[in-house]
Amino acid sequence: MSTDSGAHARPTSGQRLPGHIRLTSHSGGVDAPSITWGAPTAAARGPVIATTTTRGHRNVVGTHSGSYSVYRALAVASGALSREHRADLTNTSPTDVVGPYPQWSDPEAIVSIDPWGATIADSFPDQLAAGYDVRPTIAITKAHVILPEIADAIAKGRLVPDNETLLPNGAALVTKAAVEPVWYLPGVAKRFGCSETELRRVLFEETGGMYPELVTRSDLDVFLPPIGGQTVYIFGNPRDLADPTVELTARVHDECNGSDVFGSDICTCRPYLTHAIEECILGAQNGGVGLVAYSRKEGRALGEVTKFLVYNARKRQVGGDTADQYFARTECVAGVQDMRFQELMPDVLHWFGITKIDRLVSMSNMKYDAITGSGIAVGERVDLPDYLIPDDARVEIDAKTAAGYFTSGVIPDADELRKAKGRGLTT
Ligand SMILES: [Zn+2]
Repeated sequence: MSTDSGAHARPTSGQRLPGHIRLTSHSGGVDAPSITWGAPTAAARGPVIATTTTRGHRNVVGTHSGSYSVYRALAVASGALSREHRADLTNTSPTDVVGPYPQWSDPEAIVSIDPWGATIADSFPDQLAAGYDVRPTIAITKAHVILPEIADAIAKGRLVPDNETLLPNGAALVTKAAVEPVWYLPGVAKRFGCSETELRRVLFEETGGMYPELVTRSDLDVFLPPIGGQTVYIFGNPRDLADPTVELTARVHDECNGSDVFGSDICTCRPYLTHAIEECILGAQNGGVGLVAYSRKEGRALGEVTKFLVYNARKRQVGGDTADQYFARTECVAGVQDMRFQELMPDVLHWFGITKIDRLVSMSNMKYDAITGSGIAVGERVDLPDYLIPDDARVEIDAKTAAGYFTSGVIPDADELRKAKGRGLTT
């Protein structure tokens, strides 16, 4: 391969990469520390090591940063990033201590997060000193969040700034945690009711054979999948999340770029998200604590291309966009109604030591069932106030409440579901 001498010239990969490809499908060697998932201490559990440079140290399948591992590959390919780069973690430690909680040492309570992933410097000092490339999979920081809906709630008198949780300029003070997926495969298989062998084979095949170790290295139990993770926003003191005497308001929200970011009115995602933030602020101001866990599962985890195809199918069908065909149109395109599979979602709640949610800001029966099924008690369920539902989203909300979503309002009957309520494509 040659490079031109123009402005875009980059060093050839051959100058930096070893001459042979290092296959991952053979046993790594004796230098890899073992992982005992659910062990009571970090030392007994062992570090998660997904380094791509020292193969003998690896004790997992996959690499760090989820889907962004592909961008890291591009950075290496383009010459922008050295493969040998080691993160300088000076001053990066969490702003708040989370855990350890009893749930961390229950191998079945948490199967998709590394509970020790935020505190690697404290948890694995010996391995770090010995040169093992142990990286955080969780980061915790502080932020101010400023949303027009919260400013509106202040203007309308629903919220009052207290200079503690909510500032007069409308900024809410939060602690936020970014969490990468770290899957303990035997535990994930159990949640999905399949065998580990079956799960590993399907993961291997459905990613186009991307991770051969899934099928060749049964000694590796932990997989860092190439998917998005979660971000958690906490209103109030994060330590209070584990305190059963402190009232907890919580929403678990699945990503919807079109509504959450761009304000598209075909669904209720952003209104519900901002409503939950308002409820969380109120809860924190009343001596409680609030939590919003945001999962990267765009378009019911079907992706945005599928989602937009479904929008067209809904709006072009004979009779227009009706609630009685809402789920059917998704199933026609995607083969399923939903791929979010809430089975893994409660893990992040257990990571914070949560044992009960006083006010769950969600209408989803799937989320409710997953949370209560994982042993977390739920008190009140808070539905979306009618005035926050955009006109074009009536189809969605009717279809969902008819299908079993929680509502304190009226459940639409069959006649109601057949009435077209969604806009056409050109209006
Ligand atoms: Zn949405």
